[in-house]
Amino acid sequence: MKKYFFTLISILLLTVSCTGKQGKEDAPTLTVTIEPLRYFTEAIAGDKFQVISIVPKGANPEIYDPTPQQLVELARSKAYLRIGHIGFEQAWAERLQANTPKLPFYDMSQGVDLIHEIHPHAHTHGNIDGVEPHIWNSVSNARIISSNICKALSEIDPDNQTYYQTRLDSLQQVINRTEREMQSYLTNADYCFLIYHPALSYFARDYSLQQISIEEGGKEPSPSHLQELMKTCKQKQVRVVFVQQEFDQRNAEVIAQELGLKIVPINPLSYDWNKEMIHIAKSLNKKQ
Ligand SMILES: [Zn+2]
Repeated sequence: MKKYFFTLISILLLTVSCTGKQGKEDAPTLTVTIEPLRYFTEAIAGDKFQVISIVPKGANPEIYDPTPQQLVELARSKAYLRIGHIGFEQAWAERLQANTPKLPFYDMSQGVDLIHEIHPHAHTHGNIDGVEPHIWNSVSNARIISSNICKALSEIDPDNQTYYQTRLDSLQQVINRTEREMQSYLTNADYCFLIYHPALSYFARDYSLQQISIEEGGKEPSPSHLQELMKTCKQKQVRVVFVQQEFDQRNAEVIAQELGLKIVPINPLSYDWNKEMIHIAKSLNKKQ
């Protein structure tokens, strides 16, 4: 009886392992920092890797601390892809590398023309090097980030280099379509916008727009700074103020009320990078 039982178990196990599709669930993992980077990485990795972002939905990547469970997951990963200069990475990169010395780290900001902040957002960004960290909110940077991902994956898994290159080409098509749609809205749009946290510096540079941030050096604005902002907004005929759920919205509401601005919630940390970029461009269109 006992013997039959064991045979039955081993047959069951055998059946499970045979029918268990060799799918994405069995694929090795890659860890990335934020959701938009997971979007690009999954697009290129296809079914060859599972991609985990270390900063969960709704958390602020500028001050995030990983959980012990995440450190274990990271140690099991094939590689870590960082976006580049976000606070979490600056605070944790050395410790993570010390913790998992054999894990390859790749910097996705390589080749991006970085904006160096005159007044680093030390408070919210924990930013030591003074680099404007939100590089992914830009179509031109997205192209560079995507080819960096393709390069990294081809190095980690050279056998599938052609596979990654083909998927990179498709992703570049998506990025091109996203840009065309954005440009259709931006041909007749406000050149200047207000935002609580300056997450759209690279987007603004791409299209020669002006971003005015309510946050002052990463801190809540003083009453005199608020007065100054309202004056500038009137002069530049600002109509839109962007807010983000991870940051304060009260000051934006005060200004919006005072000047009759439209409050537009955005989520630059969304997985749906292309939808978010189009939403931002569309919000600035004068007919919106
Ligand atoms: Zn930020």
